[in-house]
Amino acid sequence: MAAHGFHFPKVDLGPEAERLRADVRAFIAEELASGGFTPTADSWTAGYSAEFSRKLGAKGWLGMTWPKKYGGHERTALDRYVVTEELLSAGAPVALHWIADRQSGPLLLRFGTEEQRQTILPRIVRGECYFCIGMSEPDSGSDLASLRTTATKVDGGWQINGRKIWTSGAHLCDYMIALVRTSPRDETRRHDGLSQVLIDLKSEGISIRPISNIAGEAHFNEVLFENTFVPDSMVVGNVGDGWKQVVSELAFERSGPERFLSTFVVLREGLRELGQTPGDSAAASVGRLVASLKSLRRMSLGVNGLLQQGESPVAAAALVKEVGTRYERTVLEGMRAHLPSRPAGQSPDAYASVLRDGILHVPSATIRGGTNEVLKGIVARELGLR
Ligand SMILES: Cc1cc2nc3c(=O)[nH]c(=O)nc-3n(C[C@H](O)[C@H](O)[C@H](O)COP(=O)(O)OP(=O)(O)OC[C@H]3O[C@@H](n4cnc5c(N)ncnc54)[C@H](O)[C@@H]3O)c2cc1C
Repeated sequence: MAAHGFHFPKVDLGPEAERLRADVRAFIAEELASGGFTPTADSWTAGYSAEFSRKLGAKGWLGMTWPKKYGGHERTALDRYVVTEELLSAGAPVALHWIADRQSGPLLLRFGTEEQRQTILPRIVRGECYFCIGMSEPDSGSDLASLRTTATKVDGGWQINGRKIWTSGAHLCDYMIALVRTSPRDETRRHDGLSQVLIDLKSEGISIRPISNIAGEAHFNEVLFENTFVPDSMVVGNVGDGWKQVVSELAFERSGPERFLSTFVVLREGLRELGQTPGDSAAASVGRLVASLKSLRRMSLGVNGLLQQGESPVAAAALVKEVGTRYERTVLEGMRAHLPSRPAGQSPDAYASVLRDGILHVPSATIRGGTNEVLKGIVARELGLR
C-alpha cells in the first residue's frame, strides 16, 4: 500500500511472535484470575501500578529490543508490538513504565552517553525506573519551538528555570527528559538553541503540582523549575540539537497500538454484553468497528516494520495517530448507541465501568502527543499540499 509518499509495508509477524502472544495472554489470564488488575480504558495513561510494571520486567517484556549489555532482550520491534497490543487490549495497568519503555529508553540508546545508558536502562528494563516527557509549556504546545524554559550554563552543569505543563505522570516518575532553551530565541532560526536534559525529579528547586483531569484523576502536572541544577553529564545528545532529537522521538510516540486501542476494552466488554445474537443493526456496527480496527492495525504494523528497519516514518506515524484517535471515539459512539450504560452506581458491570472510563478519557486522545489539526498539517505536507 503506497500512495503519495506514504508506505505501509505488509508485515508478517511469524510463528515466534505468535508464541509470544500466547505467553502474554496466559500471563494476563492469570493476573485477571488472581485479581492482579481490573481492566480500564486508556490503561496506558490511566493504569499506574509499580507492581505490574515490575512483573512485566521480570517476564522480559520491557526494553525488549534493547541490547543485552543494558539489560535488554534484543528482540524485534514486532515482538514488542505483540506484547503491547495484548496488554492494551486487556486494559492492563502499563502507564507507569510506558514512556520510559516506549521512547525515553530508545532516545537514550540513540543519543545518550554510555554512563546514562549503563545507569538508567537496566532499571527501566526491570520496571523500576519511570520517565515523563517535559515538552509542553503554558504558552507552547503545538508550537513547541516557542518554549521559554531556560538552561543557563553554570560551573559543572546547567541551571534550569521555567515551567512545564500537562506532564503525564511527573508526580510518580524518577526522571523527566526536558526540552529547554540553551541559547536565546532567534525568530529566523526557530528550531535552533534547544537541548534535551535528563532531570532527576528529586533534585532541589522542583515543584510538581498535579492537575485534576475531567475524570477527577491526578494524571498530568505542572512542573516548576527554580534554579534547578542539572550536571553536564545529564545533557542528552548535543547541546543545540534538541529539536532534531525530539522529532526523531515522534515516530515512536505516534504510531503504536496505543493510538487506536485505548477504547478496545469497551468494544470487547460490549461484545460480551451483546452476546451471540446481537441483532442486525448492532452486528453491522460491530462489523464496521472491527473492519476499521484491522485497517488501522495494518497501517500501524507497517510503520513499526519501518522503525524496525531503522527508518523514521514521521508522517506515516502522524497519519496513524490522527485516524486512530478518531477511531477510538467512534468505538464509544458505536457501542453506546446499542448498549447505553446505566447511571453510575446502578451498574457495577465491567462494560459500564470501561465505557465510563473511555468517555472521560477519549477527549484527550486527539490532543496529547500532537493535536489532530497539527497532525493533518504534517500529512498535508507529506502529500505536497502545503
Ligand atoms: C492527556 C494529556 C497528556 C499530555 N501529556 C503530556 C506530557 O506528558 N508531556 C508534554 O510535554 N505534553 C503533554 N501534553 C500536552 C500536549 O502535547 C499539548 O496539549 C498539545 O501538544 C497541544 O498543545 P496546547 O495544549 O498548548 O494547545 P495549542 O497548541 O494552543 O492548540 C490549541 C488549538 O489550536 C490548534 N492549532 C495549534 N497550532 C495549529 C496549527 N499549526 N495548525 C492547525 N491548528 C493548530 C490545535 O489543534 C488546538 O485545537 C498532554 C496533553 C494531554 C491532553
